[in-house]
Amino acid sequence: TEAQKQYLAGFTMGSDVARAVSKLPVLSNSVSNGATISLDANGVSLDGNAVAAGPDRFARIAQQKVKQNGGKLSKEEQAKADKNPLDMWDEIIARSDAGEFPKGTDVFLHKFHGMFYVAPNQNAYMMRLRIPGGMLRSWQLRGLADLSETGAGGYIDVTTRANLQLREIPDDGARRVLYGIRDLDLISLGSGGDNIRNCTASCLSGIDPDELVETIPLAKRMHHYILNHREMYGLPRKFNIAFDGGGQIAALEDTNDIGFRAVEVSDEHADESLPAGVYFQLTLGGITGHKDFARDTGVLLTGDECVEVAGAIVRVFIQHGDRTDRNKARLKYVLDDWGFDKFLTAVEEEWGRPLRRIDASRVTLPHHENRLAHVDFHRQRQADRHYVGIVLPVGRMTASQAREIAALADEYGQGEVRLTVWQNLILPHLRTDDLEAIKSRIEGCGLHWRATNFRAGLVACTGSAGCKYAGADTKANAMTLAKHLEDQFDLDLPINIHFTGCHHSCAQHYIGDIGLIACKVEQGEDTVDGYHIVLGGGWGDRQGIGREIFQSVAFDAVPPLVAALIGGYLETRSPDEPFVDF
Ligand code: SF4
Repeated sequence: TEAQKQYLAGFTMGSDVARAVSKLPVLSNSVSNGATISLDANGVSLDGNAVAAGPDRFARIAQQKVKQNGGKLSKEEQAKADKNPLDMWDEIIARSDAGEFPKGTDVFLHKFHGMFYVAPNQNAYMMRLRIPGGMLRSWQLRGLADLSETGAGGYIDVTTRANLQLREIPDDGARRVLYGIRDLDLISLGSGGDNIRNCTASCLSGIDPDELVETIPLAKRMHHYILNHREMYGLPRKFNIAFDGGGQIAALEDTNDIGFRAVEVSDEHADESLPAGVYFQLTLGGITGHKDFARDTGVLLTGDECVEVAGAIVRVFIQHGDRTDRNKARLKYVLDDWGFDKFLTAVEEEWGRPLRRIDASRVTLPHHENRLAHVDFHRQRQADRHYVGIVLPVGRMTASQAREIAALADEYGQGEVRLTVWQNLILPHLRTDDLEAIKSRIEGCGLHWRATNFRAGLVACTGSAGCKYAGADTKANAMTLAKHLEDQFDLDLPINIHFTGCHHSCAQHYIGDIGLIACKVEQGEDTVDGYHIVLGGGWGDRQGIGREIFQSVAFDAVPPLVAALIGGYLETRSPDEPFVDF
C-alpha cells in the first residue's frame, strides 16, 4: 500500500535485513526467539506472516507474537486483528442509515468510535465523548443539550472521568450524533473499547489558590498526541491517564494506569541536575477495580516531558500487554510481571532518553485537598472571582438544565464550564456581586449549589438503567440511600459513598468510605438486587482499598444497615475523627 511504501522508504530493499531491522526498534525489541524477519515491497513479515507496516505495526506484531508462541488471541483481540475498528466509519454510517444496530463482535468494535450498543438494558446506543481536562465551552454544552433532545434521550450524564455521555440514541441515529458532535468541535474516537480514555486533570487548573501547576493544558496536549499518533489506538485493553496539579480538588491520578502528580523540589534538595521547582512524579499501574493504586516509580518529569514519556509507556504496553486473557490485559499485570526496573528500562529505550530517577526524600508532596471544594461557592486565585460547584443528582442533567448552565456561564462567567471526576460541574470566573443572582438561577432550574455531606461525595455508575453488566439500578439506589441518610443525620464531615454495578468498577467502590458493588441476592424463591459492602477506602493522602464487611445484602436492607453504621460512628467517634479512621 502507499502507506507501507512510505514507511519503508528509508530502507534499501534487498540489503542486509539485520541492519534495516536495527532501525526498527519495535521489531528488534519484539523478535528474540529466532523468528525470520523479512522486508519486501509489501511490508514486513515475521516467519512468512505479513505484518502491517503502518502505524498499527506495534499491535500487529504483538498479535503475531502470540500466534508464533502457540497462544490464542482473546475473542476481542481476534476481532481487532480481523477488522481494524478505526476503518469502520462507512460501516457505522451505513448501518445507521439502514436502521440497524451492530451484532456480534461489531458491538465491541463500534465502541472505538464512542458508540455503545447497550442492549438489553436499552435497545439503543450510548455515545461517550472525549473532553480533555473536562473543559467545555458554553456553546458546546448548549449544542449538546439540543442534540440530546433531537437525537438522544433529552438528558446528559457526567461521568467519573469528567466526561459526557448521551443515551437512548435510536438505531437510525448514529449518523446524526456523530455528525452533530463534530459540528460542535467534539469527538468520540477512542472513548470506549481498548483505548486511552478521556485524559483528566485537576478541574480548578488555573484558578486554584493552592495548586502547584496548571494541568488542563497538559491533558489537552495528551489528548491531541493520542489523536495524531495512530499507534495509540492499538492497545490490548483500556488505559487511563490523569494529571494532578496538587490543588484542592483531587484528580484521583492514583487510580489511573499513568498518574502524573505535581510535587516540589525545594532549594534544599536541589542541585545542578535537578533545579528547584515543580515536577511531576510518575506513578504507574492504578486500577482500583483490581485493588491496586498507581505506585510511585521514583521518576520525576518536567511538564514538557510528560506527554512524550506517556507515549513511550503506552508503546511498551502495546508491545508487551497480554492479548490472550482480557482479565490480565491491563498495565498492572505487565508491571507485576516485570517489576518497575525492567519496565522503566524498556520505556527509556522506547523514548530514546534516560528517565530522571530521584530519591523520594528530595521531593515534597502537596497536601491541599478539600473534600468539599467541588460543591458550593469558593474564592478563586484571581481577585473578586469565585467559582461554584453545581450538584448534579448522580451526574445527570436535563437538556433544559444544561442550557441554563450554559446561559449562566455566558452571562456571569467567561463561557467556560468544567466537568469534575466527582460527576458534577464547575462554573468559574464569577463576580462577588453576582453570586446571589446565580444561586437563585441554579435553584430555579431544579439543581443545587449546596450539598449535604452525604450527597457531595455520592458517586454512582450507570447501573441497570443503561448498562448490560449491572447487577442493580445503582443511580436510583444511590438517591434512595442518600435521602434515607439525610432524613436522619446532619453530618458535619464528608463521607463518600460509591455505588458500582459490577466488577468493572466504574464508580470505584473500593476507594469510597463506603463502597457498594451490585450482586444478585436470593430471597426465598426470588432473586433481588443487592450489594456487597466495603468500608474504609480512600485516595491521595488517605489512600486505601476498602475491605469487604457485608456480603449479599438485599437493597431493601442497605439503607437501615448503612444508617446503623453512620449512627454508630456519630455516637462513638472522637472529635473530628473522619469515618475512614473510625
Ligand atoms: Fe456498567 Fe459495571 Fe461500569 Fe456500572 S461498573 S457502568 S455496571 S460496566
